[in-house]
Amino acid sequence: MERLTPLAWQRELWEQLLAWRPRLPHALLVHGTRGIGKRHLIKAFSQLLLCESSVDDMPCGHCAGCHLLAADNHPDLRWLTPAAQMPARTDVDESAGESPALGINARSSTVAKPGREIVIDQVRKTSDFLSVTSHRGGRRVVLLIPAEALNDAAANALLKMLEEPPPATIFLAVTDDLDAVLATIRSRCLLLRSPIPTALQAIDWLQSQGVSDASAKLAEAGGAPMGLVGGDRVDDAQNLDPALREVLLKLLLRGAALTGAEVASSIPKEVAVAPAIRLLQRWGWDLLAERLGGRVRYYPTYQRQVANLARTIEPSRVADWAATLVQIQATSDHPLNARLVVESALVDYIDTMRNAIRKREPMRMERLNR
Ligand SMILES: [Zn+2]
Repeated sequence: MERLTPLAWQRELWEQLLAWRPRLPHALLVHGTRGIGKRHLIKAFSQLLLCESSVDDMPCGHCAGCHLLAADNHPDLRWLTPAAQMPARTDVDESAGESPALGINARSSTVAKPGREIVIDQVRKTSDFLSVTSHRGGRRVVLLIPAEALNDAAANALLKMLEEPPPATIFLAVTDDLDAVLATIRSRCLLLRSPIPTALQAIDWLQSQGVSDASAKLAEAGGAPMGLVGGDRVDDAQNLDPALREVLLKLLLRGAALTGAEVASSIPKEVAVAPAIRLLQRWGWDLLAERLGGRVRYYPTYQRQVANLARTIEPSRVADWAATLVQIQATSDHPLNARLVVESALVDYIDTMRNAIRKREPMRMERLNR
């Protein structure tokens, strides 16, 4: 049975939450950089709030409330989250019609842009859920993840609830990007900055999760440990498959010797674009950082190889390549042509490393979308 407790670097914030527990604010917004355990924190706090026999200010892990929560089936908890990011449920019964997890319903509704946004239909269903009393007699919890995914109409509908909060209800929201959260929503939440783990805390935690070579992997993740293990299901889509990581690094290590044929025969059809492109971006940043400052941030394991490659690069070309990757990342929703997107980025890498004179054409997204 899953018993969620705060991470080592969240103890102080946890104490703060406990101090508020008797008279909780009706909406909390936890913000901070990606991958430092914000979702974990609010899930642990949800479990504490819904636990029916908490011990020492921690959820017990074995009461009915904890069991229902572990099965993503607690009748007093709702997720307000883009359909694409809904956690996998262990007991989905859609024939029941009234699925407790809203994103499940949203998937089958007529949403213009499924997956990316929190839409008004979802907020309305939350409102319906809050119009009846608590099923198990305790608090109701609404998880709003990530808060910036609310579109305007959904945010307006939600504002009404935040202004006149239903009794015994708490909204727990999370964002990696506080500036992207609508000001009207932000101003109605109590803001909590999520603490950042020290390198030692992050490495300790990774090792406790069975991650080998934790130090190198933490560097690769930019010091944010949570994306490295599957513990945070909401983030799974962002995680890079380890086999693909090996493939990409092997190709990148070839530098100017890499060929288009190698690229074409290496990238699987069902490649996840965002994490693959992120790896390429970090590789590009490391090449630049090594060349300009003699320092490798993300791939210290390959320090020697990166240094060798960086000696031959034209920094402005690598910077151009990195800029192209940012563009791709901003429009990385190409499920049908995922492989083509990643292959094109790697072919650009070949040109970049060969310092090809030919001015590369900017990546054409309409071409890739065909
Ligand atoms: Zn419990």
